[in-house]
Amino acid sequence: MSHVFPRHTKSNPPLAVKGDGIYILDSNGKRYLDGSGGAAVSCLGHSDADVIAAIKEQIDNIAFAHTGFFTSEPAERLADRLIAHAPGSLDRVYFTSGGSEAVESALKMARQYFVEKGESSRSHFIARRQSYHGNTLGALAAGGNEWRRAQFNPLLIDVSHIAPVHEYRWREEGETSEEYGLRVANELETEIQRLGAENVIGFIAEPVVGATMGAVPPVPGYFKRIREICDQYGILLILDEVMCGMGRTGTLFACEQDGIAPDIVTIAKGLGAGYQPIGAALCTSEIYEAFVNGSGFFQHGHTYIGHPTATAAGDAVVKKLTEGGMVTRAAEQGEKLDAALREAFGQHPHIGDIRGRGMFRGLEIVADRATKAPMDPAKAVNKKIKAAAFEAGLVCYPMGGTIDGQRGDHILLAPPFIISDDQIGELVDKLGTAIRGVL
Ligand code: PLP
Repeated sequence: MSHVFPRHTKSNPPLAVKGDGIYILDSNGKRYLDGSGGAAVSCLGHSDADVIAAIKEQIDNIAFAHTGFFTSEPAERLADRLIAHAPGSLDRVYFTSGGSEAVESALKMARQYFVEKGESSRSHFIARRQSYHGNTLGALAAGGNEWRRAQFNPLLIDVSHIAPVHEYRWREEGETSEEYGLRVANELETEIQRLGAENVIGFIAEPVVGATMGAVPPVPGYFKRIREICDQYGILLILDEVMCGMGRTGTLFACEQDGIAPDIVTIAKGLGAGYQPIGAALCTSEIYEAFVNGSGFFQHGHTYIGHPTATAAGDAVVKKLTEGGMVTRAAEQGEKLDAALREAFGQHPHIGDIRGRGMFRGLEIVADRATKAPMDPAKAVNKKIKAAAFEAGLVCYPMGGTIDGQRGDHILLAPPFIISDDQIGELVDKLGTAIRGVL
């Protein structure tokens, strides 16, 4: 009998014993094509020799030294590397052990920034209904995913949630993409005015939405207008790139494609590529200087900040993404994946939308393509597709949920960037087998 407390207490998962490129092998020798990196983690596959060597080398030198006393070579190197490639005036890196911690740190950094500046009345965050920012209480409060929040609502701080941007579901008849983007972006301004700008800390959003609706990119101009509103009212723009960052969408930072830079950006998942648990919140020099010129102390911290072994892994990963051409490969293979998905499912009566950027793709499952009517939740097609795909030897990430009163079932795909053309074919074939068995 297992003594592990699993997430799914009624399931009995196989033992993963080996990684081989884009495949995971279980103890029975069955091979699973990793079509989602778990949840968009494994950007380099499961057996990258360079990342493994970097970890081994670091452990041979020193595995851990607490940041209350020391910094470390890999943490310094990784921070330099990230900042060299970061958009706008992002200048400092606050390391964490994962995505929720990165978001939690970003929220507290943003609050303390205003406290340091003597603007303590600012205590309110604005986020979006179509969002997931992590499972710790602060990050969960920022997220707008009701299914994840529901039983914890009494424990959550008050965060305003404005409209998501999801063209396929909510762009109105006769509206252009740009008009739709402006309309929903302007909800931010309305909410800031309602709260009073002097009470607002910032706005947090995922540039490409992952876990809640399945690789939904923004419409053109949306984030430019968001940036403009944040600047006009003096509030911070926090972009959560925990899932969509680190090359996943075809650029190192997803927001590069929207032509904007945030005040704070959170990253994780692809940063360690699954080889080590690591995340980070990057902030501008302006934010950092407020701490330097103020109390000189960020009233927040975790034991494993800037963990030397984790940052050594992250450094090897980001080197491979940038100097090793892996971000470019994500963009190129992502186009091929998109084309293969459209070829296989573009006319499928129950696939309403195929979307995404780079190696971050989503398929929306509907009852009726013409009306976009969602599936009956009782059918639980997302769970059935997950099980059928797993049986066929494919790990993919189907989800379902209700947002703004509309049910949405979707499948998220986020395979490693190293996937070959043939393996894209294999992924799509296996997904087809799973979908045929359920829909
Ligand atoms: N933010 C986003 C956008 C995410 O997608 C996730 C996880 O899926 C998180 C934060 C939380 O990250 P973690 O699961 O590493 O705590």
